[in-house]
Amino acid sequence: MEYTKRGKILFQISSLIKHDFDEIARLETLNQGKPLRESKADVAWVVRAFEYWGGLADKIEGETIPVTSNRLTYTLREPLGVTAHIIPWNYPLALAARSLAPALATGNAIVAKPAELTPLTLLKIAEYAQKAGLPDGILNVVTGSGAVAGRALVSHPDIDGITFTGSTQTGQQIMEAASKNVTPVLLELGGKNPNIIFPDADFQKAVQMAKFAIFTNAGQMCWAGSRLFLHEEIYEKFLEELKKQTESIKIGQGLDEKTELGPLVSEDQKERVLSYIKSGLEDGARLITGGSVPEDPTLRNGCFLKPTIFDQVKSSMKIVREEIFGPVLTVFRFKSVEEVIEMSNDTPYGLYAGVWTNNLKLAQHVIKNLQAGVVAVNDYLVAYPQTPFGGYKDSGIGYESGQQAVSRYTRIKSVTVNSS
Ligand code: NAD
Repeated sequence: MEYTKRGKILFQISSLIKHDFDEIARLETLNQGKPLRESKADVAWVVRAFEYWGGLADKIEGETIPVTSNRLTYTLREPLGVTAHIIPWNYPLALAARSLAPALATGNAIVAKPAELTPLTLLKIAEYAQKAGLPDGILNVVTGSGAVAGRALVSHPDIDGITFTGSTQTGQQIMEAASKNVTPVLLELGGKNPNIIFPDADFQKAVQMAKFAIFTNAGQMCWAGSRLFLHEEIYEKFLEELKKQTESIKIGQGLDEKTELGPLVSEDQKERVLSYIKSGLEDGARLITGGSVPEDPTLRNGCFLKPTIFDQVKSSMKIVREEIFGPVLTVFRFKSVEEVIEMSNDTPYGLYAGVWTNNLKLAQHVIKNLQAGVVAVNDYLVAYPQTPFGGYKDSGIGYESGQQAVSRYTRIKSVTVNSS
């Protein structure tokens, strides 16, 4: 298919989604449980992602390379072929779009598998793709478990590239399976991200965003600001204000427009997070707030958990070392810049980091020394379809989004023509 035609189809998918904006947001909330306001933000991101990649589809360019006067050497960027996309349950729609749109724009055919718990919105994207004129066979969705459908897909010899978004443990298994066929992998894995607040930061904004960074999507985010580092000068005041604001978060059903914190995705996930809370208490961390299911009888039997904050934590504790993937924040006190850089990097992960200061020189120093693939200054949870996103260390290989992602869905053919 011509690249311009692919681009037009991607634009059309974007406008079909935009047209049904509220319906899709509602479907995502029913699919995953997240508050409607968050689903709306996800749908807006997806609309923009298909538009962005629609625009890039006819700009996938090679280059000419000077060698000798009688030879013309150039590169062709060719699609990988058939790409497999394994998607997690925390952002089922947005993360599907994040990898499907560039794979389509660069000319690949796709087999995508949603997580067991959240297949609905990926199936909906496939419906829109068909309506938009994408020929049958280009975008295929296979539902099923990771152990059966996922494993079969990533081990298949006819798969030419794998994009996996999910846990680091599953990523390792996928890499192993892919090695049998020497299939390239793009891995977007877990995180245990530092959010660092210096004393000169805008206090109110930093408190509000520290809350947002961990309790959005009930903390079920690879990029959650789950380790908060507070400078000793502001420690008590910040924690007190954060506690106050956290205790006023409205917990409720995702479809209720007033809800700020929805349920966890499943009973199993709730139990998993509760077991981390128990281990934090057993290890001697101080519980500042939360730590249990809500008392409200309408919420008590669902998958809800109160937003939880621990401080007086040690780097050896399980709640500090492991990705909890729930609404649980651990808070640390720091004195010096070098100390906070060391503490921030003391994790096998390296996905995302927040830095709060108005001191430009300090910010640059911290950015340079953080082992993280994405850094936000005076901000948090910011990612655009045009900005690369990917992890250092155990958080992944490669990056999604932005023009650089073209290289993850294409390969280069180097051609030399001798004209003598
Ligand atoms: P998971 O690893 O359990 O599952 C992710 C997907 O992999 C699901 O579709 C599952 O069915 C499939 N799967 C499981 N085993 C498989 C196998 N052996 N072969 C092939 N597929 C298999 O992850 P999850 O619990 O759904 O998602 C949470 C994790 O995802 C967290 O660790 C989170 O940090 C990470 N995540 C990372 C990013 C990122 O961009 N870096 C984004 C979102 C989530």
